Amino acid sequence: MENKYSKKETVVVHKGYDSSQHHGSLSIPLYQTSTFAFDTAEQGERRFAGEESGNIYSRLGNPTVRVLEERIAELENGQSALAFGSGMAAVSAILIHLTKTGDHILCSRGIYGCTFGLLEMMQEKYNITHSFNAMSTEQEMEASIRPETVCIYVETPINPTMEIVDLELVYKVAQKHGLKIIVDNTFSSPYLQNPLDFGADYVLHSATKYINGHGDVVAGLLVGQDAEDMMNLRMTVQKDVGGIMSPFDAWLIIRGMKTLHVRMDRHSENAQKLVTYLQSSSLVKNIFYPFDPSHPQYEIAKKQMKAGGGLISFEIQGGKEMAQYFMNALQLIKIAVSLGDAETLIQHPASMTHSVIPESEREKMGITNSLLRLSSGLEHPDDLIADLKQAFTKVETHFAKTMYKNI
Ligand SMILES: *Cc1c(COP(=O)(O)O)cnc(C)c1O
Repeated sequence: MENKYSKKETVVVHKGYDSSQHHGSLSIPLYQTSTFAFDTAEQGERRFAGEESGNIYSRLGNPTVRVLEERIAELENGQSALAFGSGMAAVSAILIHLTKTGDHILCSRGIYGCTFGLLEMMQEKYNITHSFNAMSTEQEMEASIRPETVCIYVETPINPTMEIVDLELVYKVAQKHGLKIIVDNTFSSPYLQNPLDFGADYVLHSATKYINGHGDVVAGLLVGQDAEDMMNLRMTVQKDVGGIMSPFDAWLIIRGMKTLHVRMDRHSENAQKLVTYLQSSSLVKNIFYPFDPSHPQYEIAKKQMKAGGGLISFEIQGGKEMAQYFMNALQLIKIAVSLGDAETLIQHPASMTHSVIPESEREKMGITNSLLRLSSGLEHPDDLIADLKQAFTKVETHFAKTMYKNI
């Protein structure tokens, strides 16, 4: 059954499943079970001893979840993958796996708000420290490397500023200092960027976002380069901390993921059109989109990403008050955190996803009170542009009136 195809578009539809073994069922069966019956007591003994492969208990593996793990491993060009109950369960599992008390983690300048929270907690409780680095040159990175540094944790594009980290540069430095690289690839999805191809050791996703793509599941995935190491992770941190994915969530993600490539192409196309429109609006100050030639790291983005993806950040003229007025004026675009859904979503990072980060830190990361993050959905771009346009008009009218009153 294997080797009949070579392309990712086919992998998301077929990998890891043979319908002839399942009564011809075209849809992958949902093994909604907590445990598995053994034929004999001896078989149970052999499975626990690892002498015979097979199912034991769903926290140690489940056939429906396994199909998803095989698909994501192949999509990311990795050896093996593990599925988790949330993106944060995948983040915490890999950090627990790689660190011990006294170690240091080097992080890209911006990271997901809850990853920041986790690192703060690890520092406080276990003395596992971290520092942030813009990672623009080798020298700059090396200035933050200490004898106790064990890994480099990277997000690219960075949420929500859309800064790009050069994965080739990170690999060069990591090689020199014997450090593991973890990349949070949520923003690009495995269709647009494959960090393992650039030398990363682990790549993780909040599958809640593009991979599932339908806004109805919270889940995480972790892919590794080394099958033995991943098996070790499965039988230690994943088994004993226990942040596993439910079979039903895996089933929904398998269904959502079949259209990943089609969706990502359209998300990227729509985003390009929205960027062009936003550039024409006098109320927009700065636009951050990796595949826009004005992006300072456009060349690096082109080198490591296939397309720009669906996320755009932009600064509106005026501060938080105007940003909030604008969001409230939107009619079609929903005010919501998360991203990668069919629906276009907008959020205000300073007061929402990144509100736990102290304002001074936030400003350093470029997350100002004027910044808005837009996740382009799959609607027709004309309708989205019309919605943005009418909201900008309302903002203009409202603020012109207030200004007039103040004179
Ligand atoms: C959403 C997100 C996470 C966390 O994932 P959950 O599925 O919400 O736990 C981590 N990293 C990035 C970049 C995200 O967008």
